[in-house]
Amino acid sequence: MVDYGIKFWSNDDFIIDNGVVKVNYKNKPALIEIVNEVREKGYKGPLLIRFPHLIEKQIEKIFTTFESSIQEYKYKGSFKAVFPLKVNQMPNFVLPLVACSEDKCYGLEAGSKSELIVAMAYTNKGSPITVNGFKDKEMISLGFVAANMGHDITLTIEGLNELETIIEVVKEMGEPYPKIGLRIRLHSTGTGIWAKSGGINSKFGLTSTELLEAIKLLEDSHLLHKFTMIHFHIGSQISDISPLKKAIREVGNIYAELRKMGATSLTCVNIGGGLAVEYTQHEGSNNRNYTLSEFSGDVVFSLKEIVKNKKEPEPDIYIESGRYISANHAVLIAPVLELFSQEYDEKALKLKEKNPPLIAEMLDLYQSMSEKNAIEYLHDSFDHMESLLTLFDLGYIDLQDRSNTEVLVHLIIKKVIKLLKYKNHNDIIRIQEQVQERYLLNCSFFQSLPDYWGLGQNFPVMPLDRLNRRPTRSASLWDITCDSDGEITFDSSKPLFLHDVDVTKEEYFLGFFLVGAYQEVLGMRHNLFTHPTELSVVFDDDLNKGYEIENLLEAQTILDVLDDLDYDTKEIERILKQRIEENQDIDEETKKEVMGQLYIMLSENGYLRTIASSEKN
Ligand SMILES: *Cc1c(COP(=O)(O)O)cnc(C)c1O
Repeated sequence: MVDYGIKFWSNDDFIIDNGVVKVNYKNKPALIEIVNEVREKGYKGPLLIRFPHLIEKQIEKIFTTFESSIQEYKYKGSFKAVFPLKVNQMPNFVLPLVACSEDKCYGLEAGSKSELIVAMAYTNKGSPITVNGFKDKEMISLGFVAANMGHDITLTIEGLNELETIIEVVKEMGEPYPKIGLRIRLHSTGTGIWAKSGGINSKFGLTSTELLEAIKLLEDSHLLHKFTMIHFHIGSQISDISPLKKAIREVGNIYAELRKMGATSLTCVNIGGGLAVEYTQHEGSNNRNYTLSEFSGDVVFSLKEIVKNKKEPEPDIYIESGRYISANHAVLIAPVLELFSQEYDEKALKLKEKNPPLIAEMLDLYQSMSEKNAIEYLHDSFDHMESLLTLFDLGYIDLQDRSNTEVLVHLIIKKVIKLLKYKNHNDIIRIQEQVQERYLLNCSFFQSLPDYWGLGQNFPVMPLDRLNRRPTRSASLWDITCDSDGEITFDSSKPLFLHDVDVTKEEYFLGFFLVGAYQEVLGMRHNLFTHPTELSVVFDDDLNKGYEIENLLEAQTILDVLDDLDYDTKEIERILKQRIEENQDIDEETKKEVMGQLYIMLSENGYLRTIASSEKN
């Protein structure tokens, strides 16, 4: 049975059982059950479902794994972490994150003033805040404000000018100061599509020469005791662990050297983010070549060895993993609106008394095809179609003939698939690129999967049910934007097979998994599609069904979206109303009716109501 590679990417967060995808937690509800419950409340567009228990699971995992490496190597430093807000700033993610990590040394990392405000408001007391990215004087002063709230805050300096500004603010604002971190520009870099944040040409960090200068500046202004951390980040989604090992060696030696120069308050090495998530659905095409325990083992062991050789104390280890913590907590559900070839059924075939010979021949192929000759006949029908389309261009056949050609080709494709259904799947794989079915999804890839559009990042995708039936249609996925980039294709080496469903009669949903990192705030309102309706599924043993739907946040209405673009929505409403009223061609009653319809639409979101449910009811 096709399992959509769930064993490669799901980490046991989700399982297939009894033909449906289930949340692998507590009473294991099926995703389709949750989706149906929400849709019964009237939310017909795409849904973003969050699972707070999975946030907690990842945090637990990263702490227990690092702590066990620390025990294994008898490492004397401790392990601390921050969540980098740029990876997901949504309140329904951040609030559960801080709530479930109260018992740990787990804080927030901010890269802008707005993120710093979130961190200052929500970081648990006693947990660290780190601040990276470019800073002006105002942002540095904000760091001093945080220190005045009693936060354990470290400002990580990206360039010498920031340090000079800190020295200025120290003079103006006085104690308590934030701690100071220095970001190192390493010569090691990560690999893969995100590898721009490390390396000698990176956008961030201090060169060795600047580091020496920074130490001198700190010394001269009596701030060396506030310098506690060095930091690096070699890029997101590190696929290969060897550049990380190199980076650790580099940073470990820098740590030891700086201490020897008198920076004895330096006790923390912050290894940034980059811990990769496995997105693959296919054997042998893994996104990373290491496990979390290898990663933590390498970090702890390398640091221990380096400082042992240099006779310096073992530093505390900070990590800033974002993707690893947040990706799995959210699932995007997209209703399938249409299968492109669905309209091509036998009823659509309007043969004439006398048909062009090639059409007659295609009909014969269709009627006489068998399991044995299926693929041969399929190829013949493609040839005939080419010829018939040429005949149309030359004016020899009419539009009805052309329509019959299209219908016959699709009927033949469907028959081939049916004939081969119980045979070797490889036969279908062989023909799949020629006969891909397009599935139209009620969502926007620009809004909900921007990294697919921008970076070619694939997210695991699968249907929520029918998993005990073999899917027979090799698919490509289309969103409802009118942009040709709103398409996800699959080549024959990694096809996506979906079920042949009649969506006018039954509903069919696809889930995109691991969408909880980066996608939401990066998502764009191309064609003015807003964020999907989102909700959190919170497990509670005391409830009958075992879970509760919380924090339901409806997709923005059309007027809200226009308001965000700074349209005067009152004016829009007034003009629309006026235009209906001024039309002499319709009577008063029609005007009222049309107005009513218009107001309903303005108060809804712009996604489509699915065809299936409207025809069923
Ligand atoms: C983006 C970023 C992170 C998070 O990286 P992930 O790959 O999501 O873990 C951590 N630290 C810094 C400085 C970053 O810029």
